[in-house]
Amino acid sequence: MSETLIDTAPEAEDEFDGLDAFEREIAEARADEYLPDAVMDAEQQSEEPPQAPQPIVLPVETVLGLLDNTLTAHEADPVAFSVGMFLDALGVDEGDHTADTPQRVAKAWRHLLAGYAEDPSVHLQKQFSAPENPGLVVVSGIRLASTCAHHLLPITGTATVAYRPQRGANVVGLSKLARVLDGYARRLQVQERIGSQVVDALDSVLKPLGAACVITAAHGCMSLRGVAEPSATTLTVATAGDWIDPGHPDLQAVLAEHARNAG
Ligand SMILES: [Zn+2]
Repeated sequence: MSETLIDTAPEAEDEFDGLDAFEREIAEARADEYLPDAVMDAEQQSEEPPQAPQPIVLPVETVLGLLDNTLTAHEADPVAFSVGMFLDALGVDEGDHTADTPQRVAKAWRHLLAGYAEDPSVHLQKQFSAPENPGLVVVSGIRLASTCAHHLLPITGTATVAYRPQRGANVVGLSKLARVLDGYARRLQVQERIGSQVVDALDSVLKPLGAACVITAAHGCMSLRGVAEPSATTLTVATAGDWIDPGHPDLQAVLAEHARNAG
């Protein structure tokens, strides 16, 4: 019966009239089975998921050349290379203004972080004889330039370094107190730590009766971002030895001198 149904000519449709719905379904299903393969393939392909994009294929010489250029640039100056990557990642390109920026930034940061290449306490090794009772030594108005360890933004301000040598002890050149401070400042820092490192160096090398480092500084991470307080400054007072008590008259003198210079 099925062959008769499939091969039936249109004019013979009347012969279907006697079939019930179930038989028609059977006949249509059979007809589907005999569809040409090409038609079946086309139907199956249309149901497949879209193809993944094809990878871009570059000649081996091109790939090796790009790799070689990258390695050469990295070997020549890994810091400048990284700054270039940093700018690229941020999508920044100011044409000729930023063309040589990676090299400039690398040079600037080597200067800003030069303190890692030295032990600043070495500056205190050279000493001179002093009066029996040299009294209080205070160097104030020292320029402070450092870099915030948390945001890599500038810390700028004024510092006072002071110490009271023991009776009969040697003293150091006054400029060396500024050099000790600068050595610790030219690192990634937090202000509190600069002061304590200066005081620790004075204390361990000179063994004075007391040492102090007072700093007033503005922080780029406070003025340029976050709370955006352009006028805020921070005062830190680091001490060691005999004037830990804030009421100590020597420390009062140090703080007064610092205030006079820090403005
Ligand atoms: Zn910061």
